[in-house]
Amino acid sequence: STFTSLGLSDALVQALDTLNYRKATPIQSQAIPEVLAGKDLMAEAQTGTGKTAAFALPILQMLDAQEMDADVRPPRALILVPTRELAVQVTDSFYNYGEHLGQRIIPVYGGVRVDNQIKRLKRGADIIVATPGRLLDLLEREIFSLDHVQTLVLDEADRMLDLGFSREIDKLMRQMPKQRQTLLFSATIADNIDELSHKILTKPVQISV
Ligand code: AMP
Repeated sequence: STFTSLGLSDALVQALDTLNYRKATPIQSQAIPEVLAGKDLMAEAQTGTGKTAAFALPILQMLDAQEMDADVRPPRALILVPTRELAVQVTDSFYNYGEHLGQRIIPVYGGVRVDNQIKRLKRGADIIVATPGRLLDLLEREIFSLDHVQTLVLDEADRMLDLGFSREIDKLMRQMPKQRQTLLFSATIADNIDELSHKILTKPVQISV
């Protein structure tokens, strides 16, 4: 499919054109209209399928359509990822797709000093891309909250569970509104992912590529 036919705005389609994305991949064709329609998603997709754009593009478009107070900017989208490397990659993708839209995208991960992350978060974030441990750390400092998160993504959920982030994910879920959109991406759907999906998804659309 073309990105226009999936419901994406001209601004995004132009950004994609610059990146030489001409046609949507199968996961993008299936996921983008559902995410734009506000549905929850359970997607079985490996790295390399174009899964990042499958959630980043509709999220950018949904946030862009909302009027926002320029000063008060609580995070409205949260992307949870297993590793620092993936946090950096996913943040880069958001920047590349949305640099003309003016959304503030902030990566948050462990293994580096917190000072810079705190400084940036204080200025306000629209989208946070985070590893679970460091995010909990920063939430305890009460610089920001997850009260306004509308869309939550768990990217590479199987790896997050394998790395032992189950308790952190539970804790984070309790800090988010119950009324929200949740998108779960996983390379494999084992029993533990099935269990997690029952806990956090509402009538999810199932996609497998
Ligand atoms: P991902 O599966 O999200 O890690 O994406 C894999 C690679 O495919 C990344 O380098 C993307 O930039 C690229 N990519 C994603 N979607 C498209 C597309 N529709 N057309 C061309 N390249 C794409």
